[in-house]
Amino acid sequence: MVEVFAVASGKGGTGKTTSTLALGMALAEDYDVTVVDADTGMANLLFHTGLADVDVTLHDLLIEKSDVGLEEAIYDKFGMHVLPCGTNLDGFKEANPELLQSVIVELSEQTDVILLDAPATLGSKSAVLPIVLADRTITVLQPTVPSLSDGLKVQEYASAYGTGNAGVLFNRVTDQESVTEIQEQTERYFDGPILGMIPESETIAAAREAGKPLLAYAPDAPVSNQYRKAAEKIEIQDREAAAVADRFRSAVIPEPP
Ligand code: ADP
Ligand code: MG
Repeated sequence: MVEVFAVASGKGGTGKTTSTLALGMALAEDYDVTVVDADTGMANLLFHTGLADVDVTLHDLLIEKSDVGLEEAIYDKFGMHVLPCGTNLDGFKEANPELLQSVIVELSEQTDVILLDAPATLGSKSAVLPIVLADRTITVLQPTVPSLSDGLKVQEYASAYGTGNAGVLFNRVTDQESVTEIQEQTERYFDGPILGMIPESETIAAAREAGKPLLAYAPDAPVSNQYRKAAEKIEIQDREAAAVADRFRSAVIPEPP
């Protein structure tokens, strides 16, 4: 079985990488989970996972006729399989983002849940690729009207490519009252559920400083439990790896910008 999620948002800095790793670790308590840094232009998952010094990354898999095997770019950390992406500009220039498709096909044969840490979607057409390839999106938003409207654009892209909506995760929540209104609007306009409301948290900032995912840095913190509760709301669907692979092979890749 395998289900592929794109952890997406309209803009950067909403907490996609933080949330990808926190949800990934929570889901890894029940499933075999692989997290992928699919934000190939602004990769930073490696810094959150203590993998800043590794030699082989997703970039090496995205080079045409590369002889690097998938296994060489996957690191087993924090109870998950982690496929980081390099931050080197040359690596990015040489990489063909469309090859992500075949990387995911191969991954889908060996894991239960794939979380793609996606680029800020509204940046470019090719940034939509993880959303095109995923079964469902998890949209990470700040609880503001502009962020919500970015989120609706993400949903629009997703539904145009037949990708479902696993829900919205609000992050960096400071003021519960303002959230009530946003919550109503979200329920009105979004197809999926609200998975959770993650507060602005010093523990999250400290985890990032320590180069560890939140659930490894502070497994018993209340905010870690909030991520676990959000993960519980995502019912993983039991898809056949072969069917997923077929769908990926035939996915319509958006034109580059
Ligand atoms: P993105 O991947 O969407 O660009 P990140 O997950 O890298 O965002 O988060 C951006 C920065 O914000 C990081 O330094 C991270 O530690 C911090 N951050 C994210 N969520 C929170 C939060 N709830 N409270 C405090 N800091 C946060
Ligand atoms: Mg990120």
